[in-house]
Amino acid sequence: MNETEFPLLNKTITNSIILTTFNDFSNWARLSSLWPLLYGTSCCFIEFASLIGSRFDFDRYGLVPRSSPRQADLIITAGTVTMKMAPSLVRLYEQMPEPKYVIAMGACTITGGMFGTDSYTTVRGVDKLIPVDIYLPGCPPKPEAIIDAVVKLRKRMAQEIHGDKNKLKQGNRYFTLNHQ
Ligand code: SF4
Repeated sequence: MNETEFPLLNKTITNSIILTTFNDFSNWARLSSLWPLLYGTSCCFIEFASLIGSRFDFDRYGLVPRSSPRQADLIITAGTVTMKMAPSLVRLYEQMPEPKYVIAMGACTITGGMFGTDSYTTVRGVDKLIPVDIYLPGCPPKPEAIIDAVVKLRKRMAQEIHGDKNKLKQGNRYFTLNHQ
């Protein structure tokens, strides 16, 4: 378009239209409204719960905690996972719609923590049950660390191709993750 010929029209279009791809728009919509399933089994969940209050204001990232797995696309496993709890966790994960994400929060959920060596009741790593996208170490991780993990997850989601977790783009290049 010739700017000198259509100065007003050109200015209007510049101020009114955002050009993007459907893929980027879809990614932006999903990462802006991640809904985590409420899943806390022990002390780590106290740190997660503090995020919901006004001090950390988790909602500003579009995170609205859900009680139903069918309405959630993120699960933050906060606390120890016992053997008895394991089938329920897998079932909850399976009930979540795709694409879905997992943040393993705290030493107990990542390795079994202080129960990991001597106890026969504790799962020694939640990734033996469900695929983990982000590992968040600590005992317990601070609320700021949980926010950091979510921000990292959002950055990764922005690179996905059609909601496929294993296909990411970088600039104009596309590549496939083989981490499974
Ligand atoms: Fe509790 Fe620490 Fe285990 Fe978290 S990692 S559940 S704070 S003992």
